[in-house]
Amino acid sequence: MPFPCSICGEESTRICARCTKDACDNHLCEKCLRCSDCCECEVALSGPVREPARSAIRAAAAALKPDPEPDPNPEPEPPHPPPDPDPFPEDEQEPGPVAP
Ligand SMILES: [Zn+2]
Ligand SMILES: [Zn+2]
Ligand SMILES: [Zn+2]
Repeated sequence: MPFPCSICGEESTRICARCTKDACDNHLCEKCLRCSDCCECEVALSGPVREPARSAIRAAAAALKPDPEPDPNPEPEPPHPPPDPDPFPEDEQEPGPVAP
């Protein structure tokens, strides 16, 4: 005589490894062999990922640490205009065409 699933009432195939209640395939975790009420795998998957304190602190430190790169876009120095070696003489009346 099959036992009904303690959660949905369908025919149970296994019992929970923790509370030993009957559970069907849909309500028995294949990993931990626990019913949905006792299974912690789904909680870990759906809920926030539990991280060790070290990695959490490390992640927080990584998030808070400043940008390692000094400046991604440094302002280029403006090119200094070279001094005019041959300034126009002021007494020239007509600049005229430059063509030879
Ligand atoms: Zn069930
Ligand atoms: Zn259980
Ligand atoms: Zn599980």
